[in-house]
Amino acid sequence: MPLPIPTIQLHDIYQLTPETLRELGVRFLMMDLDNTLAPYHIHTADPRLADWIASLRGAGIELFILSNNHGDRPARFAAQLGVDYVNRAKKPGIRTAMRIMRERGYLPEETAIVGDQIYTDVLCAARCGVKSICVRPICISRNPLLAARYFLELPFRGGRKNGQNK
Ligand SMILES: [Mg+2]
Repeated sequence: MPLPIPTIQLHDIYQLTPETLRELGVRFLMMDLDNTLAPYHIHTADPRLADWIASLRGAGIELFILSNNHGDRPARFAAQLGVDYVNRAKKPGIRTAMRIMRERGYLPEETAIVGDQIYTDVLCAARCGVKSICVRPICISRNPLLAARYFLELPFRGGRKNGQNK
């Protein structure tokens, strides 16, 4: 089992620029939804999120929502943002992520998963052989289980210093 060590770590998605993705050689970005693009309790996409999506898309990056959420949140955000999605992706299982990548015609080395969780998003990326971009969960304080899990992830979050950690 590969170690779930992020390729890069950022404070939030807004620090992820087309330049960074170009340096990584990434053209396809599979994005976690909950606590990565929006907190659990928010049901509509922030205009800033739409602008960020547009800037990446303008740079030729293809975007996709890869969510473990079982509800209709992924569909709603995907519609608002104009991107395709899957829910119930079962990360860190790799079957869905590998299928999406294959269907879209991308290689692992030009693909990245962005997410807030080490043991789902980053581990899924490591197992798929794709790059991983780990952001801090937007909101952990409302849920003690999320806070506890974040604490357990800290050894991996501190695992690689590359000047982009905040
Ligand atoms: Mg998440």
